[in-house]
Amino acid sequence: MICAYCGKEAKGTKEHIISCGVLDLFPECFATIDGERKVVHQSDPLVKDVCVDCNNNRINYIDSYAKSFIEKYFLTKYSKDDELNIEYDYTMMQKMCLKYAFNDLRSRKKDISFFNDTIISFLLNQTETEALRNVTILAGLAVNTSPVPDSVFGNLKLRWSDSPYFCSNSLVMNVDYNTGKITLRDKMEPENFNKRVLSYVFRFNSLQLLLLCWDESISEDELLQNKIVLEHLYPYKILDVTGRSIITRCTSEATYHQEKIIDVSIGQEMLDEISFMRGTFTDEYQRFLSSVESEWTKEEKTLADKHPR
Ligand SMILES: [Zn+2]
Repeated sequence: MICAYCGKEAKGTKEHIISCGVLDLFPECFATIDGERKVVHQSDPLVKDVCVDCNNNRINYIDSYAKSFIEKYFLTKYSKDDELNIEYDYTMMQKMCLKYAFNDLRSRKKDISFFNDTIISFLLNQTETEALRNVTILAGLAVNTSPVPDSVFGNLKLRWSDSPYFCSNSLVMNVDYNTGKITLRDKMEPENFNKRVLSYVFRFNSLQLLLLCWDESISEDELLQNKIVLEHLYPYKILDVTGRSIITRCTSEATYHQEKIIDVSIGQEMLDEISFMRGTFTDEYQRFLSSVESEWTKEEKTLADKHPR
């Protein structure tokens, strides 16, 4: 076997697609649901083409960072209007998302051409601390504002997928406030970003991350243009080298359970109005939802005890 990281001939070892330490934070999510292949299996998602040296000594610093970052902020659930101040190491955020995307793409035998020598060396070397200019990370809070409790879908705190769909306009086209009639947009065009070569969405409980990788040849102007569109059209915050951001909810009742759909901010607002009209935000309904949630939390504790890691 040729190691996917160092390129040397060696015996393959089991590398976790998402760090084992991150999976350890959510023992209740003991099953892996692979929507693309339509299978559910009771083992960790793995890829087996990494040599023992890379796996145990060279890329595991990324796993430690990922675990500590998620553990610090995202084990709890947030409310719809919460603002969260986060501090992060931007280079490590890039490394974490790139590593998970690279692992996932290999396990699915998809195109890994973005991961050239520069990117691989960036991942392998802990001492490379300068952020990559052609990789953009956005973050937001995943908050369930839908009338459907998490327990209906269960086990979906950790999700990841390539090529999320960036809507160019709101999912909902019109709400008639007199009749309550909702009209969905019948023809949706995706937003196309110049020189985007790879994109991913990650959900780690209450954290949602978007990874966008640009062709190396992207100019500063093109990059700026893409960032302006991203920042103004979508309810996400672009992370940057300052290492500090305030993130807010990036989901709506339509996108919370469908992380691959990235609705625009105005679409999120329209869906919030629909949730409001339906009464999902009333105190009475919120009390009902939190009683369901607290029962589900007890069930999760039982599941976690049954499936120790
Ligand atoms: Zn190796």
